[in-house]
Amino acid sequence: ELPPYATEALAALEAAGHESWVVGGFVRDALLGRTSSDVDIATRAFWREARGVFEDCGWHVHETGTAHGTITVVIDGHALEVTTFRSDGPYEDARHPQRVSFVRTIEEDLARRDFTVNALAYHPERGLLDPFGGRFDIETRMIRAVGDPDRRFAEDALRILRACRFVAQLGFSIDEDTYRGMLANKGLLPLISVERVAHELSALLLGPFAGDALMSTVDALSAVLPELVSMKGFEQRTPYHIYDVLEHTARVIDGVPAYPLVRWAALFHDMGKPAAFFAGNDGVGHFYGHARISVELARGIMRRLSMPGSFSERVLELVERHDDDIASTSKAVKRALARLGGDAELFAALCDLKRGDAQAQAPRCIERVALADELERILDGILSENEAFSLKQLALGGRDVIALGIEQGPRVGQALNAALEAVIDGHVSNDRDELRAFVAAWRTEREDVR
Ligand code: ATP
Ligand code: MG
Repeated sequence: ELPPYATEALAALEAAGHESWVVGGFVRDALLGRTSSDVDIATRAFWREARGVFEDCGWHVHETGTAHGTITVVIDGHALEVTTFRSDGPYEDARHPQRVSFVRTIEEDLARRDFTVNALAYHPERGLLDPFGGRFDIETRMIRAVGDPDRRFAEDALRILRACRFVAQLGFSIDEDTYRGMLANKGLLPLISVERVAHELSALLLGPFAGDALMSTVDALSAVLPELVSMKGFEQRTPYHIYDVLEHTARVIDGVPAYPLVRWAALFHDMGKPAAFFAGNDGVGHFYGHARISVELARGIMRRLSMPGSFSERVLELVERHDDDIASTSKAVKRALARLGGDAELFAALCDLKRGDAQAQAPRCIERVALADELERILDGILSENEAFSLKQLALGGRDVIALGIEQGPRVGQALNAALEAVIDGHVSNDRDELRAFVAAWRTEREDVR
């Protein structure tokens, strides 16, 4: 089950007299019957010694984290992380060990690891090493801290989010004492860099059990996403919705495909409902404007987490438009595409979000599921026919418009958009001469009005 490059690396280290083991996610996933791609190795060799052994084998070595005893060796195009047995010294700031000390035994190395399911070591001849009952916890599907939970989360608060992330990825539950330790230390999470927080949240959202994780760990996650609190227990006040916003959101997340754009949008899509309700919206059938409030909340969260602006903008478009009515006609789809700046991938994500949202309704909203399917079919048709729906595809450019006597500035964009609309509506074909004639007429009309 061990990939050949990992066996070779182990054998090379052992032949040089250095006890070495496969550790971490690979062992956990193997016991779960899954193959994970990255293999981590722990070795008694100091990193310089390990580097020497690998270089003698003709393998390339990168010094990726030598302060922590980590190097990366590349064998047949596969990268392996190799780390010297170590225990982390006292922690400062709930983040960084003040120093790492290298230790002599694998048991000491396993003791510094976060959860029992991650504190397993395997060697092809010596078998499984399991000093903390990780195998039992895998069988009973339990996330349990190694050692005293309170101390472990106080040492490194990121582990709180890692626990939530493993729930989302593995579908496990969190042991009671461990969860208590998480809640007791969640106040330390603001000390963790926002990039690392965002990274764990992304991994959580992409997990197959992301919705379950959100529901079951909301009181821990609220330290980084306080907005979740008002969603919890907030009933959607409509005759059709009999469950709360957080639960609905969780179902949507589980119901949409696992790619970052649509999963983040699913997290945010109904976040504004409680606020919309308390702001006096009718609360009987509709939450007027809840999408706009969700957008503002989402914008704030993504800024706080320093998420890339271009990604955030696309997520916000999805949140804002998730409830838009789009007719199942080619024209309507092209207009919607034009509003999204011609971003066909974003439109497909919008279909995924709409379908997930409709599927998560109780009772399931069959017509809206079918509508989302239909919109996606229409999109495919438009793409395969290469029909125009964005300014990029228009056979007329800004220069042509200026050459027709339209002054530089906002008027150029207006003219081009009018031309695109005319093409989408079928009044003009996407042909340069026809479009020039159209713009000329459009200009005269405008001038008459003035
Ligand atoms: P993945 O499948 O996401 O790679 P993984 O368990 O391998 O899961 P990594 O982040 O690659 O997770 O870390 C490798 C191993 O290092 C973990 O299995 C765990 O034993 C240990 N580890 C990682 N981060 C921490 C941490 N913050 N505190 C303690 N141990 C950690
Ligand atoms: Mg790993």
